Amino acid sequence: MTTSNPRVVIVICDSLRADLIGPEDTPFLAELGERAARFAAHRSVFPSTTRASAASIATGCQPARHGLLGNTMALDEGEGLICRSAGHPDFPDRMRRATGRTLRVPTLAERLRWHGETSISCSNVSPGAAYFQDPDGHGYVYHAAGSYGPGRRPIEDPASALLKKGLAGDRAMTERFCAEILEERAPSLAIMWLSEPDYTGHHSPLGSPQHRAAIAGADQCVRQVWETVRRLDPSGDDILFITGSDHGMETVAHAVDLDGLLIAAGLKEGSGSSDVVVAPNGTAATIYFAEPESERVNQVARFLQRENWVGDVFFGERLGVVGLPSDTAMRIAVSLAADDRINDHGVAGHCPIVQDPADNESKIGFGQHGGLGTNEQSPFLMIAGGGFAPAERRELTSLIDIAPTVLRHLHMDHDDMDGRALPHQR
Ligand SMILES: [Zn+2]
Repeated sequence: MTTSNPRVVIVICDSLRADLIGPEDTPFLAELGERAARFAAHRSVFPSTTRASAASIATGCQPARHGLLGNTMALDEGEGLICRSAGHPDFPDRMRRATGRTLRVPTLAERLRWHGETSISCSNVSPGAAYFQDPDGHGYVYHAAGSYGPGRRPIEDPASALLKKGLAGDRAMTERFCAEILEERAPSLAIMWLSEPDYTGHHSPLGSPQHRAAIAGADQCVRQVWETVRRLDPSGDDILFITGSDHGMETVAHAVDLDGLLIAAGLKEGSGSSDVVVAPNGTAATIYFAEPESERVNQVARFLQRENWVGDVFFGERLGVVGLPSDTAMRIAVSLAADDRINDHGVAGHCPIVQDPADNESKIGFGQHGGLGTNEQSPFLMIAGGGFAPAERRELTSLIDIAPTVLRHLHMDHDDMDGRALPHQR
């Protein structure tokens, strides 16, 4: 199938677990699942954090190739390794200072610009997650912390400046996305990234009335975009519509002070030292070494393998198995031990988290993600239009398959990515 005016519209519902989609809370997505290609074995990347996921959706590559290794990363900007939040608006500049660049492979926004086409992204999650869809400013990115046009030219955008995480902000963003972006500006690629149900999931128990209301609200936002898309393209031939999430969530069982454990074991000099630096990523952590070839890496890995809160430890060649690089200062990644216990609201899956010294809020009993637990690794994905046949699809798919699927619809090259363009039918 070819179309003369191909466009792609993507809506991400941050953190929405595939198993929480059902007729009661998400009547629209439940119905769309019958009318679209629904990918039932869709997986997140590792760490299963929003910022690494945003970069993987944008590049079609694993973190090993795009280089954003989680929600936090240790960077050496000349004063030794220091753990930084990739969510902070200044992080892309820090990354440039420390490594000479931001992402190491082109984004969808850049690839579209090569062809003279435009991408527009509206995001209500962290600034880092918004900017890592297009860190070098090839298209438009609208976000409360600052909006940018091509050339990373700042744009005065009062509508975005007013947005706050949560349902009200998501609704306002959806209105604007449908009326202005989709109907008027009609770019080749338009992406909208909702803060829900992630925002509420991090601040309330999974399956609680608040969390379910957030899920229902996200469902309504997706419905509104879908109805706009169908009005613009009743046949579904031109506009490829993709909706999904970046990862799921587990319930936080308890918090582990990994810094403290390493210091007590004599494996790290002290609090804030840069010899061994833990980058907490929710239910996962990555560990950076000032001397990455030293025996200390093996000592820390052996220590972690004996801890009962650890699910799996990746170091050496095994980092590649989970899509992480093995030649950077980050030498160990750990996924914490998830289990299938059910919480008070009937939602399965618990996991400890690594305590983040930069964040003192208690997370116990609320949702979190980052690791390889079954539920946090179960985002949803549905694709309609653009030649996709309605069907439940069982093949294993990943966030990295989205970008090549987008580019194929836009008749652009996509064979140099880690992911693959998904077949139109099974
Ligand atoms: Zn997320």
